[in-house]
Amino acid sequence: MCRVRSDVTAAEALRIILERTPVLGAEMLALPQALGRVLAEAVVSTRRIPPADNSAMDGYALHATDLATAADTPVSLPVRFEVAAGDTAGRPLEPGDCARIFTGAPIPPGADAVVRQEDVERQGDRATFVRKAATGEHIRRAGEDVDVGDPVYEPGERIGPAQVGMLASLGRGFLSTRQRPRVAILSGGDELVEPDGDVEGGRIVSSNSYTIAAQCRELGADPVYLGIARDTPEDIEARIRSGLSADVLVSSAGVSVGDRDYVRGALEKLGCRLHFWGVRIKPGYPLTFGSFGDESGDRGPLVFGLPGNPVSAMMTFEQFVRPALRKMTGHTKLHRPLVTAVLAEALHKKAGRLHFVRVALTREGDRVVASSTGNQSSGVLRSMSLAQGLLVFPADATELREGAPVQVQVLDEAFLASDTPGFQEG
Ligand code: AMP
Ligand code: MG
Repeated sequence: MCRVRSDVTAAEALRIILERTPVLGAEMLALPQALGRVLAEAVVSTRRIPPADNSAMDGYALHATDLATAADTPVSLPVRFEVAAGDTAGRPLEPGDCARIFTGAPIPPGADAVVRQEDVERQGDRATFVRKAATGEHIRRAGEDVDVGDPVYEPGERIGPAQVGMLASLGRGFLSTRQRPRVAILSGGDELVEPDGDVEGGRIVSSNSYTIAAQCRELGADPVYLGIARDTPEDIEARIRSGLSADVLVSSAGVSVGDRDYVRGALEKLGCRLHFWGVRIKPGYPLTFGSFGDESGDRGPLVFGLPGNPVSAMMTFEQFVRPALRKMTGHTKLHRPLVTAVLAEALHKKAGRLHFVRVALTREGDRVVASSTGNQSSGVLRSMSLAQGLLVFPADATELREGAPVQVQVLDEAFLASDTPGFQEG
C-alpha cells in the first residue's frame, strides 16, 4: 500500500487534486450544440464583419463635400439610383449625385456619407438637403466589428449566446470544444434507500446521489449513477468496477477508517492510489482522493471519496470536485466568484480547521451582508439549501466580529437579481 497523506490543508488538498487532473480531449460539435461548452481552439476570423461599408440608416448616400453650404442654402441633388440591403455595391456615385439607400445596403463607390431620410425632402427624382453631412456619417465600415486575421477567441472561452452569434457570423458551423467529464456516482450504506423507497425502521434517502448528480449537471458534466452499494466488499467492488470508464468517480460511501468502510479496500484492490485522507476543513474532514495508473500511465478515473453527511458531501464537492471538473472542461478560472461581505453577526470557532459557513446574502445599497442560514451541522441540508454563499472562516481565526468584512464564495448570484430594470422613464 502506498503512502497516503493525512490531515492536509485545504490548499494542499486542492493542489494535489489539480496536479493530477487532466484537461479532457476535444470534440467537434455543431454550433447549436456548443452552447455552454468551452472552446478547445483559438478562433481567428477569416472574414470581415461587416463585409462591406454599409448604411446604418434609411436615407441618401452622397459626397459630403456637396453639402458644404447646405446649412446656408438648401442643396438639391438628383437621385440617380437605389441600393437596398442584399444588393452588390456596383454602381459608382458621381459627385453632384445622390442615391436612395436603405439600412444594411452597401455604400456605392465614391459616396462618403449617408443623410437620414428624416432630414431630407424628396420631390420626384430630386432630394433637398438643409444640413451639412460629416464624412463617414451613418456609414458602418467594413471590418469595424471583426477584420480578417483578428483573433476573436482564445481556447478556454465559454460559449454563451453572444459567442454563438459571433461564431455564426464568422461562418463557424462546427467547433472544437472540450469534452464533458463523465462522473460515476456511487452511494453506499445499508441505511440508504431511493426517494420512493421505504423509510421505515430508520432508513434514509440517499440524497447525496441527487445533490452530486445535480452539482455535476450544473457544471456541464454528465453524471452516471452507479446506485446504492450495500455495505459488503463484493457489492462495493462490483459497482466501482462498473464506473471505471468514467473520468471521475465520486463515492459518498464513507472512505474512512470505520469497520464497515470497504470502499478504500475495493479501490486499492482495483489499482487506485490514494493520495490523501482527511482535510482540515469543516464540514467535510473525511475527504479522500485517489487516482488510477502511474504518473506516466494509463488513465483511470480520478476518485473522490466524499464524506457521507449530506452537507459534507456537497461542501467537499464544491471545494474540490468542482474545480477539478472545471479544469477538465477547459475552464481557465476554476473557482466561484468571491465577494467581500459584511458579517451580520459574530461567529466563533476553535482554531485549527478552515470552516465554510452557510450564509444568506443580501444587498444593502453598495454592500453585501452575510448572515448565517442557521444550524451549521454537517447533516443539516436545509441550511445549505438556504445559502447563497459560503463564508470562508480561516483555519487560524477563532472569531469574526459583527460588521467585519468577510470573504464569501458566491454559490448563487440570484441575490443580485433586481426588482427594477436598471433604467428609468424619460
Ligand atoms: P458514512 O460516511 O457512511 O459514515 O455516513 C455518514 C453519515 O452520512 C451517516 O449519517 C449516513 O447515513 C449519511 N449518508 C451516507 N451516505 C449518504 C447518502 N448517499 N445520502 C444521504 N446521507 C448519507
Ligand atoms: Mg455508511
